[in-house]
Amino acid sequence: MTVMELVNPATAEVFADVEMLDAAAVDRAVTDAQRAQRSWAGSTPASRGMALRAFAAAVEAHRRELADLEVTNSGHPLGQAMWEADHVRDVLTFYSATPERLAGRQIPVSGGVDITFAEPIGVVGVITPWNFPMTIASWGFGPALAAGNAVIVKPAEWTPLTSIRLAELAVESGLPEGLLQVLPGRGDVVGEAIIGHPGIGKVVFTGSTRTGRRVMEQAAQSVKQVTLELGGKSANIVFADSDVARAAATAPYGVFDNAGQDCCARSRILVQRSIYDEFMERLEPAVAGVRVGDPRDDGTEMGPLVSRPHWEKVASYVPDGAPVAFRGSAPDGPGFWFPPTVLTPQPDDRSVREEIFGPVVTVQAFDDEAQAVAMANDSAYGLSGSIWTENLSRAMRVSRAVASGNLSVNSHSAVRYSTPFGGYKQSGIGRELGPDAPSAFTETKNVFIAVGPDPQAEGTS
Ligand code: NAD
Repeated sequence: MTVMELVNPATAEVFADVEMLDAAAVDRAVTDAQRAQRSWAGSTPASRGMALRAFAAAVEAHRRELADLEVTNSGHPLGQAMWEADHVRDVLTFYSATPERLAGRQIPVSGGVDITFAEPIGVVGVITPWNFPMTIASWGFGPALAAGNAVIVKPAEWTPLTSIRLAELAVESGLPEGLLQVLPGRGDVVGEAIIGHPGIGKVVFTGSTRTGRRVMEQAAQSVKQVTLELGGKSANIVFADSDVARAAATAPYGVFDNAGQDCCARSRILVQRSIYDEFMERLEPAVAGVRVGDPRDDGTEMGPLVSRPHWEKVASYVPDGAPVAFRGSAPDGPGFWFPPTVLTPQPDDRSVREEIFGPVVTVQAFDDEAQAVAMANDSAYGLSGSIWTENLSRAMRVSRAVASGNLSVNSHSAVRYSTPFGGYKQSGIGRELGPDAPSAFTETKNVFIAVGPDPQAEGTS
């Protein structure tokens, strides 16, 4: 039996271990999932909606327990972890309306009636990263269950605990055994077994672009549907005609939330040259003001990085002699602490081009709108971004011109369960959340019913 030791990122101490499963466990899970899915899809739409609301209520009742698990396992600040548990509840509640609303269509045709059915795919695999373990799992299992599927989640090796607990809560709240299963294990073992399994019809993968490419290649072997939510290197564009004070005060929270371990982190700040000096003067105290510390404390805004190997990776972007403009603070002692860091590198530096996934942001100047758009789009990624301007026409022009799936104007808007989320270019394929997410977990079946002439009407007219 292989065991994974789980380390508290704030103390660097091992606090639990988890059995890592193998490919045989995936086979067993798929058999159980298929059985559960048949009874789930066969139950009434209203009862499926009620069951999802009961699951949401169980998450609500255990929100503090789930948050505490995430604080210990992932180093997330308590306030953030509570938001994450509440977000899972909200995702389930939002999609609990789906079973009674997932309607097909009636299409006008000659010679009969044509109708479509939105049928469940069957069993869906959801492979998640370590940065937002429970929320990202719920973006997959919420709409997938709502569309009548069973779900097998493979959590990231370092952070399986909240997903495991959510699957227990699903059963405790009344969902059929086997309908939502969580299989901790290695990506190249359990992850690959899920992608290759003939009994699984779709895979939702969230993680790095490098692994996402491999997932897509492997899924191609069995022509399996994939949704990919991958990396980002998003721009925060600050124009001279913006509220510069607000843009500077909020910029740290657009990138340093979750210690920068956020696919939507606005990790490239682009500032119009005429306000560059003013912006940097205002940014420095804002960065110094980010409260970095014990994730269990109420007022903490930023915790540690998730692990030692990840700390090493982030630190490699700030070598001796790096163009550091200024830095915030971080606790000394054990734990994977890294202070918020602002760099002013050359445009071709790897810190400008690669996803760092830590509390490191680069600042560059631009001259006009066209250059700002060109710089924002000069990336293999296209996930998120912010635009700061008081000029409505400019806000609309730039929003349309930046090749990115999720933009916010005069804010660093977080993900909302009710609006679609996903990336352009190498940030991914497909969209999660929002009103259309359940459709991504269905097959459309078209049925034509021939309607002949009324035999009794023959010869009467
Ligand atoms: P990762 O790609 O290393 O791992 C993600 C998951 O894939 C893990 O569960 C891992 O075990 C599994 N995996 C690894 N190799 C596999 C294989 N060969 N087959 C199947 N599964 C395999 O990513 P990570 O380091 O855990 O997460 C960080 C990355 O995730 C960042 O690039 C970040 O931008 C991205 N991310 C994207 C989104 C989004 O919605 N676009 C959200 C969060 C994180």
